[in-house]
Amino acid sequence: MKKETILNSVEEHGLEFVQLFFTDVEGVFKHLELPITQIEKVLNNEIMFDGSSINGFTKIEASDMMLFPDYSTWKVDTDEKVGLFICDVYYPDGTPFEGDPRNVLRRAIDHATEQGFSSFNVGPEPEFFLFNKEGNNLVPNDNGGYFDVAPLDKTVAIRREITKSLQRLGLEVEALHHEVAIGQHEIDWKYAPGLQTADNIQLFKYTVRKIAENHGLVATFMPKPIFGENGSGMHCHMSLGNDNGNAFYDENDAIGLSETARQFIAGVLTHARANASVTNPTVNSYKRLVPGYEAPVYVAWSRSNRTCTIRIPAARGAGTRIEVRNPDPSANPYLALAVLLSAGLDGIKRQLTPPTERAENLYLMDDVTRKAQGIDTLPGSLQEAYSELENSEFLQQVLGKHVYYSFLQNKKDEWDAYRLRVSEWEKETYLNC
Ligand code: GLU
Ligand code: MG
Ligand code: MG
Repeated sequence: MKKETILNSVEEHGLEFVQLFFTDVEGVFKHLELPITQIEKVLNNEIMFDGSSINGFTKIEASDMMLFPDYSTWKVDTDEKVGLFICDVYYPDGTPFEGDPRNVLRRAIDHATEQGFSSFNVGPEPEFFLFNKEGNNLVPNDNGGYFDVAPLDKTVAIRREITKSLQRLGLEVEALHHEVAIGQHEIDWKYAPGLQTADNIQLFKYTVRKIAENHGLVATFMPKPIFGENGSGMHCHMSLGNDNGNAFYDENDAIGLSETARQFIAGVLTHARANASVTNPTVNSYKRLVPGYEAPVYVAWSRSNRTCTIRIPAARGAGTRIEVRNPDPSANPYLALAVLLSAGLDGIKRQLTPPTERAENLYLMDDVTRKAQGIDTLPGSLQEAYSELENSEFLQQVLGKHVYYSFLQNKKDEWDAYRLRVSEWEKETYLNC
């Protein structure tokens, strides 16, 4: 997109403000808003901010950072008369900031290009809950379940409002529905190149939260808000393309999967335990990855079995893709897609062979049999996950030292903050011991 095109659209829609978005190391979406009178400065990369106040960015003694708008992300909300950009973060001397999560994903995508892939497409499925505030309590906004209709589903109007807002931001929404748990919902939109999808995830979460708040509701993307109910995943459907089309498809293969797809699967599974620290980055993430709730627990792959980390949806030809099921929506989408893509590329580079496909319900397999068959489990806690991160040279390379060390420190601090607290369950269980 050209500068002139952007200035024309400012004029045409009578825009009043411009928002500049970027993301911190934990995945928190941040923004600076400017009156539209400042648009020239924005377009000329002249906007500075304090990097030392952003989680995982810079030290106080070298805090000046710049926001460079990515022109291709320009979007206009004509209702609100606001234009927005997703920005890349730069040092004042014009070099890209290596601690910017968007930069981490860009680097991973560059590696895909170097390995001969012209596209990396991702379709995400971030699930979420809506809660009513009742005093200090949060109560699910309805008692609906999977695909329920009104009056059990009390969210039709809100999901439609979110959808229209997403459409104004250019997301092509494909389906909206009540999910399995009470108060749980899903809105899916069309896949796009990886960087655009990560931007879209950030805009999606922002929009859902904003509209929920307008209705006096609380939207949450925490992975397991209610004990005993399904949690929220962010399944990622991924494919690579090259000059011949979808690189995961092979019409001559018995199940239509190319050697490239198999090696990619093998790479994602090989790094799944270490990657979990990034794709499932919170204490709460590990309360979702337990048997019985359609979330994966085991490092395995299958065509239709939802207990595995990777599922291969039935579509073939241009739609051939793998669905990675363990990521959850508390993840920083830029870092999550960077580590998933890099793991797959590593599998291709090292020509790894995936384990045998697992068609059986792995929730029902006992530990001894599972171990004998060499099926690993995803980490059971954030501590287990960050220990894997601590030992992963692969992740140090993919994330770059800056992000790697600040992210690792955050995870250790988070785990410590959690383990020091005494829960209700502990009091109930140990009071009389
Ligand atoms: N909510 C489930 C999860 O935690 C997924 C349900 C589905 O397959 O959509 O991943
Ligand atoms: Mg779902
Ligand atoms: Mg799915």
